[in-house]
Amino acid sequence: MTDRITRLRITRIDSAIGMVRAHGSGAIARHVGRVILRIETADGVVGLGEAAPWAPFGNTADTTAAALDGPLRAVLIGADPARIAAAAEAMDHELMGHPEAKAAAEMALWDIAGKRAGLPVHALLGGAVRETIPLSFSIADPDFAADLDRAQVFAAEGIRLFKVKTGFTSEAEDRRRLEALREAVPDVELRADYNQGLAPAEAMRVCRALDDFGLGFIEQPIPRGHETVLAALSAALATPVLADESVYSANEMLACARGAWADCVSIKLMKAGGILAGRAADAVAAAAGMPTYGGTLWEGGIALSAAAHMIAASPNMSLGCEFYMPRFVLARDITAEPFPYEGGAVRVPTGPGLGVMLDEHALAAETVAERG
Ligand SMILES: [Mg+2]
Repeated sequence: MTDRITRLRITRIDSAIGMVRAHGSGAIARHVGRVILRIETADGVVGLGEAAPWAPFGNTADTTAAALDGPLRAVLIGADPARIAAAAEAMDHELMGHPEAKAAAEMALWDIAGKRAGLPVHALLGGAVRETIPLSFSIADPDFAADLDRAQVFAAEGIRLFKVKTGFTSEAEDRRRLEALREAVPDVELRADYNQGLAPAEAMRVCRALDDFGLGFIEQPIPRGHETVLAALSAALATPVLADESVYSANEMLACARGAWADCVSIKLMKAGGILAGRAADAVAAAAGMPTYGGTLWEGGIALSAAAHMIAASPNMSLGCEFYMPRFVLARDITAEPFPYEGGAVRVPTGPGLGVMLDEHALAAETVAERG
C-alpha cells in the first residue's frame, strides 16, 4: 500500500573535530556544521539524511537547513516516499541548486525504501559489485609532522591511498612533503589535491615539475571556470588529472567528456544532489572511459553510508573514497555504531536501508536548532 511523507525534522548540528583540516580554499578547525534530516511516513517509517555543506562548494549548514525547511518541505510533505525519482524531479523543479539539501532528502527516501523492503540500499541499486571501498586519507594538517606520524600509523592499518593537499604552501614545501611521505610510507599511492589553488597561467609549469613523481592523480589544480586549461593539463601530463570543483552534475560530466577536461572525476553526493544524480554523472563518465572517485565535503556516517551504497553498486566508481571524517576527524559522530572501516577500507553497510542508526543523545548534545 502507498505510504506518504508526514514530517520532516531538520536538525542543525555543530560537530567537534579532533584535527585541523586546511585545504587551501578554506580551513576547518574546532567544528563542522551539518544538517541531520529525519523524514517520517504515515506508516511510521523514519528515513535518515545528512548534509555537510562547505561554503567553497556553494552552501552552508544554515542555507541548507533553510532550503529543506522551506521549498523542499513543501514538495515532500504528502508525497509517496517510494517514488524517489519523482521526488528528485520535484525538488529540482521547485528549487535551483542546493544539492546538499536535496541529497539529504533523497538519501532519507532511499533509507525508507530499504527499510520497507528489508534490503540494503545497494540491493535496490542493482546489487553490490564490491563489499569494501579502499579508503584515502587526506594529508591536510597545517602541522605536517602530525600528519606524517598519522600516515605511518594508518599505512600500518592497511590504508594504501593518501591525498596531499597541495598549493597552499610553497612549491618547494609541497615537494618536500611529498618526498617525506614517499620515504615514510613507501608502499602507498600518493595523490595531490590543489583544491583550485594554482593560477591557470602557472599550472602547467608547477604540474610538469611533479609529473615525474608518479602521483596517482593531480586533483583540480586550477579554479572552476578554466576548463580549457584543465584540458591542456590533462593532455600534456603523464599524471592523470582528476576534476572535482569543475564537475558537479551529469551535464557538467558530459561537458568534461566532450572537452576532454580530465582523466577521472570526483563524485560527491553533496555536489550531485543525490544518489540518482551521482549515478547519472557516473554513467556519463563510464561511457567516456573516465573512472570516478568517492569524494566528500565534511559528511559523517549517515551521508557517507549513502555514498558507500552508491559506490558499492557502481562499477565505474573504482578509485576508492575519502570517507575518513567519521572515523578519524569527528570527535564523535551521531550514529549508534562507528562508521564501518577495516583494514584500510570502508566496509559497505549491509543492514536494511542505509544500515545506520541514530544516537539520539549524541544528536541532542550537538543540536544548534531544530525545525519541524
Ligand atoms: Mg577536492
